[in-house]
Amino acid sequence: MKTTITTLKKLSTQALKKTLKLKMPIAFPTETVYGLGAPYDDEEAIFNVFVLKGRPLNNPLIVHVSSIEMIHSLVESIHPDAVLLMETFFPGPLTLIMKKSNYVSALVTANQDTVGIRMPNHKVALELITRIGKPLVAPSANISGRPSGTEAMDVYEDFQGKIPYIIDGETSDVGIESTIVDTTREPFVILRPGAITREMIEKVLKKPLATTINNEIIAPGMIHPHYEPNHPLTILRGNDEHIIFYVNQKKDALFIGHERFLPFIDIQKLSLGQDIKEMTRYLYHVLRQSNHMDIKEIYTHEIDHEGYMNRLLKASKNQIIDV
Ligand code: AMP
Ligand code: MG
Repeated sequence: MKTTITTLKKLSTQALKKTLKLKMPIAFPTETVYGLGAPYDDEEAIFNVFVLKGRPLNNPLIVHVSSIEMIHSLVESIHPDAVLLMETFFPGPLTLIMKKSNYVSALVTANQDTVGIRMPNHKVALELITRIGKPLVAPSANISGRPSGTEAMDVYEDFQGKIPYIIDGETSDVGIESTIVDTTREPFVILRPGAITREMIEKVLKKPLATTINNEIIAPGMIHPHYEPNHPLTILRGNDEHIIFYVNQKKDALFIGHERFLPFIDIQKLSLGQDIKEMTRYLYHVLRQSNHMDIKEIYTHEIDHEGYMNRLLKASKNQIIDV
């Protein structure tokens, strides 16, 4: 199969219809990461999403909507505090877990009675959902276990020859997946951290979210390997001088990190940017770049951001060294 990178404008209604008829997913941009989309009520197409990604069937999918009206048929009820969060953060990088209606298939929710719902803050994503006329399931557009795709070319790398279309919408602005909040528990709890932080959510709700100790409540599917580069990644913890000294002793290694380190690093190096926003935006892309480099290992440093560190720890298989 030929895989075409196109824009939504250039993708004709006929081509879109044909793709849906073939039960093939469509890759499209969102502000978090690129998604591999299929209509929420088309089990055959959804099954193809799992197969193409190599995604375990016990890892539920998030349903993406382009309007609040679309949510009503997907859920049994909406908690008043969830309404507050939707009013504040939709469209945006926030997924809300709610009790599902009978219209949502067990394949989407991995047999649970809840469903994750998100309204992406990306013009192309919203337009695509509106054109198809129904919500889309859309897990990240990457082979399971690899860093998520944040550019059309990242998606092409994983799905070339396997899907008909990748809709290009430039680099995903946020760069890591949505914050997931379970609104079926009292108090609400964060299942996956992201760009929308605990503080931002608690400010809106005017009450605390549940605290998780050692992340004991995690979203299903998060136990599977995630975001891993081809070469082993190690996170260094310590002050800048110690990190620089440690890294400069290494051979056949790559350093990735904040711009401030780079002038002092003598080995191969890639910048992740100048602030937290840029570092989350470019993390997956830089991990993917490292796959093509002639190196044996990768080093980086920690930063003070829960969502970023959640991904970095997974990518490194929790490999941290104090220096
Ligand atoms: P991805 O689409 O790759 O970002 O993965 C979606 C993630 O959302 C899954 O791995 C789950 O952790 C989480 N998720 C989706 N639906 C539910 C649900 N009904 N309950 C809890 N977590 C969910
Ligand atoms: Mg994913």
